[in-house]
Amino acid sequence: MTRYVLPDLPYDYGALEPHISGKILELHHGKHHRAYVDGANKVLEQLQEARQKGDFTHIAALERQLAFNVSGHVLHSIFWQNMKPNGGGKPKGELAEAIDRDFGSFDAFKQQLTKAAGTIMGSGWAALVWDPLSQSLTTVQIHDHQSQTIQGSVPLLVIDAWEHAYYLQYHNEKLKFFDAVWNVWNWDDVAQRYAQARKAGQTAAK
Ligand code: MN
Repeated sequence: MTRYVLPDLPYDYGALEPHISGKILELHHGKHHRAYVDGANKVLEQLQEARQKGDFTHIAALERQLAFNVSGHVLHSIFWQNMKPNGGGKPKGELAEAIDRDFGSFDAFKQQLTKAAGTIMGSGWAALVWDPLSQSLTTVQIHDHQSQTIQGSVPLLVIDAWEHAYYLQYHNEKLKFFDAVWNVWNWDDVAQRYAQARKAGQTAAK
């Protein structure tokens, strides 16, 4: 039961150097991300098997694995699209206005998201999310791939704070990595996600 597929990167492995090394991207995409895709598909098979046998003894563990692997797949897929060679700078248009409105300024937002990434205990992600309920942007600190997020919120920009994302290049100096990603952000992609999330929220509210 193959339902999830590893997407190609929208650029070459070395395209984000010197900010993210080609070796890191190769392993991160080709091995780590792939493992979440394979893991998610495997759990789907195990769930099907459980239904066929009428044996749900391991349902709690399977659900935990499903949430972990699918969420890992979703976040990595967004992360790759959030970056591009020669990216960085600042967002424009409605996204920039929303950031100013909800965080006070771009600099305050940058500081908040970077701090959220830098203070994760163990493995996780920092994310800029759109919360359709309050119609506003906020940040979350996701533990592992799935804990401590806001239900219904839409991730727009994510920072991988797992050691595999930076250790080969930045070693213990993870804050340097969380600074470096601001040189490769693809703000057009983030703005597109913001526009789509708002549109979807309006449809749901009708
Ligand atoms: Mn990762």
